[in-house]
Amino acid sequence: MKRLFAWGLSFVLPSMAAAADTLLIVSIDALHPAALSVDNSPTLQALMQPGYYTLQGRSVEPPKTLVAHTAMMTGLPPVQNGKIDNQWRPGDPQVDKPTLFDDGRRLGYQTAYYYSKPKLGYLVNPAVGEHALDPDGGIERVRAFFRHTGKRFAFLHVSGLEWVGTDSGWLSQAYLDELKDIDAALAPLFHEVSRRGKYAIVVISDHAGHDKLHGTNHPEDYKLPLIVSGNLAQLPKLPAAEWSLTELRSLFRELAR
Ligand SMILES: [Zn+2]
Repeated sequence: MKRLFAWGLSFVLPSMAAAADTLLIVSIDALHPAALSVDNSPTLQALMQPGYYTLQGRSVEPPKTLVAHTAMMTGLPPVQNGKIDNQWRPGDPQVDKPTLFDDGRRLGYQTAYYYSKPKLGYLVNPAVGEHALDPDGGIERVRAFFRHTGKRFAFLHVSGLEWVGTDSGWLSQAYLDELKDIDAALAPLFHEVSRRGKYAIVVISDHAGHDKLHGTNHPEDYKLPLIVSGNLAQLPKLPAAEWSLTELRSLFRELAR
């Protein structure tokens, strides 16, 4: 029996070694990749290592909040996942395609989803354990979620930049000041996650904008950054060329397997 046990252990460990016990995905709504800098976003900058971030992420058609988040979570472009209208109200049908929450639950993670816009309630499905619409308290809720032990995955949607972008313009001083505030608010969450065993943190956005507009077919509106960080033996490297946010689900599965 001992030999069998030892053989089983050595067989299982190598594939398990890459998986994170703690997985956090943060979607910072409307974050233009050109806004990231040591001055504007020191917390995010500290996560960025060559090969594990890209400023050449690309949103979907149309580059709008719910359309993009549905594509991220299902891994399917809008024409395949069916959500192309960017609209949802409580009581309307919710997502009927599997999402990365289903992947997480199947792999034994407790799951949580906190979001800042009512329409993102479309993405709550039975695989989501804890969830709430909480524009001001999402970060604190995720911190509380990760104070429990065991395999845990949280998806946090943070808003703010899209409102400032619409009022003052993308990459305006007011927009960069808002990013500084978001970046500072995320720092304690990232610190706590990094002390929780094997972990991975992914930061992404749904789309950018230009002037005071977003959601149009202007090339700037499709831009987004992607950052992958953590203490796993092997993090998935990102391609140097353009990265589509529909690849987030497969990236999640690489981190969670
Ligand atoms: Zn958005």
